[in-house]
Amino acid sequence: MVPKEYYGRLFTEDQLPTDYYSEALTLESMVKNDNQLKCKRCFSPIEEEWQLPNGKHYCRACIVFGRNQEGKQLYYFASKEADINFPVLKWSGKLTSYQTEVSEKLLKTYQQQKNSLVHAVTGAGKTEMIYKIVAYVLETKGRVAIASPRVDVCRELH
Ligand SMILES: [Zn+2]
Repeated sequence: MVPKEYYGRLFTEDQLPTDYYSEALTLESMVKNDNQLKCKRCFSPIEEEWQLPNGKHYCRACIVFGRNQEGKQLYYFASKEADINFPVLKWSGKLTSYQTEVSEKLLKTYQQQKNSLVHAVTGAGKTEMIYKIVAYVLETKGRVAIASPRVDVCRELH
């Protein structure tokens, strides 16, 4: 059985224990578009001097995650459906009229497949403003990734 923490990750051949090769899906490590080699893990263009003595290129931009080398494969596991309890949104707080407006606009722009940016001071309620869109995305079988420099925000969202 594939360990839970393996889902959502890309492994190089050296990183994946051989027991899991048969269950893993693969993709080419790099792609060439318009004569430009690009890393398929981080999408950085590969510079000419990022070359091994054997002539194969590798990606220096994401080498911290292990060497992704031209001509090799990246391994991953098909994602599983998340175990979600409905309704997703259990928060019972109230947004101000301004927060409600922002929350509604976030949802609307998501549905129009556009990007949004909310820039507001600490304590403005940015976290609470994303509850509605997070719930919508999860309830429609989407995925949400939240990056936060503070662990308390992650706990609050959980
Ligand atoms: Zn890369």
